[in-house]
Amino acid sequence: MDFLPLFFDLKHKPCLLVGGGTIATRKARLLHKAQAKLIVVAPEVSAELQEMIAASGGEIHYEKYQTHHIDNVILVISATEIEYVNAQVAKDCHAIRLPVNVVDNLSLCSVIMPAIVDRSPLIMAVTSGGEAPVMARRVRNVMESSFPANYGKLAQLASRFRQAVKDAFTDGELRRRFWESVLNGPIAEKALAGNFDLAEKLLSDRIAAQEIDRGGEVYLVGAGPGDPDLLTFKALRLMQQAEVVLYDRLVSPEIVDMTRRDAERIYVGKRRANHAVEQQDINQMLVDIAKQGKRVLRLKGGDPFIFGRGGEEIELLAEHNIRFQVVPGITAASGCSSYAGIPLTHRDYSQSVRFITGHLKNEAQTLPWAEFKDNQQTLVFYMGLHSLPTICEQLIKHGKPHDTPAALVERGTLPTQKVHVSTIGELPELIKNKKIKAPTLFIVGSVVTLHDKLHWFKPESL
Ligand code: SAH
Repeated sequence: MDFLPLFFDLKHKPCLLVGGGTIATRKARLLHKAQAKLIVVAPEVSAELQEMIAASGGEIHYEKYQTHHIDNVILVISATEIEYVNAQVAKDCHAIRLPVNVVDNLSLCSVIMPAIVDRSPLIMAVTSGGEAPVMARRVRNVMESSFPANYGKLAQLASRFRQAVKDAFTDGELRRRFWESVLNGPIAEKALAGNFDLAEKLLSDRIAAQEIDRGGEVYLVGAGPGDPDLLTFKALRLMQQAEVVLYDRLVSPEIVDMTRRDAERIYVGKRRANHAVEQQDINQMLVDIAKQGKRVLRLKGGDPFIFGRGGEEIELLAEHNIRFQVVPGITAASGCSSYAGIPLTHRDYSQSVRFITGHLKNEAQTLPWAEFKDNQQTLVFYMGLHSLPTICEQLIKHGKPHDTPAALVERGTLPTQKVHVSTIGELPELIKNKKIKAPTLFIVGSVVTLHDKLHWFKPESL
């Protein structure tokens, strides 16, 4: 991190602005919004700037910049177009360690101006430290649209009731929960829709009744196949609410890092035939933690209901009357096929797709191999790396042509994704001596031939 974001209290404090043109006026608007007292040095000053200076109780020096102008101010912004003046201002400020910002000249700055979204009292600031200003502006635009204008009003409402809530709920965690339930529920929606009076009434009623939801809850959340950008908004929201997180090996570390910072994180990873924590123990842990009144995030790779044993986990919760929410995730088949340029169905090649477990435990006969013969379908084997030779052998044995296209997608959707394309007759040999890294997904069917044509969808060519 090259810069530490701090928020500067400028209220009624003298801030020097060197320059009186368009850029200076733009900077002055921000200083004025922050209620600074504007001291301006410039031979000429725009009309708008003059008004702001007067309104701020500041002063104008219609003269050239001189070192003494920086006396008694707490911040300096140099916004002239004359390079040597900017350089002089910066030099003078650095000499006495006075924070200085020189517009469009990062090397002369000791403080930089972020892009700002003002929903006071909520203020958001973004910077790329001058490295990628267009991206910083994009992020700002996203924040502008994600937090509607009334967000500020909602924050003001929260601020007005802060003390009352503090008095009503002395326990910090309960207080936090109260606010979360308010900010995620109908009260917030009323305020965001502009119905502030009603929102205020509902909020004060709720504080008076000390109404808070104390029950634990479990969020069974699909984290997708690996790329954090494939998370859903709902997944992210719940990830940031839960106090305890139970996560699998398949959930990438970047995604685990997106959970609440102070959440307790418990690894219950599973590796083939080597479960870190047994399934029934996981089920029981969810029940026990939720019974303590906590919100538990059960974070799973892909989709929790596709080879995720999500059904088993919530069954026990249901038996214990513990509330839960299930959030679907992008399953490996969708993620891998998209990122590998292999559509799972295609009008010309495949009219159906079948998700199959490849975890065979030496029971090859338990899968309905004969049904897989039809070439108008796509087969997707999860957990199939170990049994890949057996799967290919069985498919061929049950009548599937040995030249049926097949692909093994290694670490799908991750930056290290690899796609090995071949046929069911040859793939086992092709990968035999390769160091294949889990997780892998095995896709069989004529759609695999599209991989070559759709190669521009492969992440490495983006
Ligand atoms: N619930 C998960 C599947 C869990 S089973 C889902 O919906 O995706 C675990 C198997 O999923 C792995 O053995 C592998 O076959 C597949 N898998 C999960 N993530 C993958 C990835 N990023 N790339 C390839 N295969 C993946």
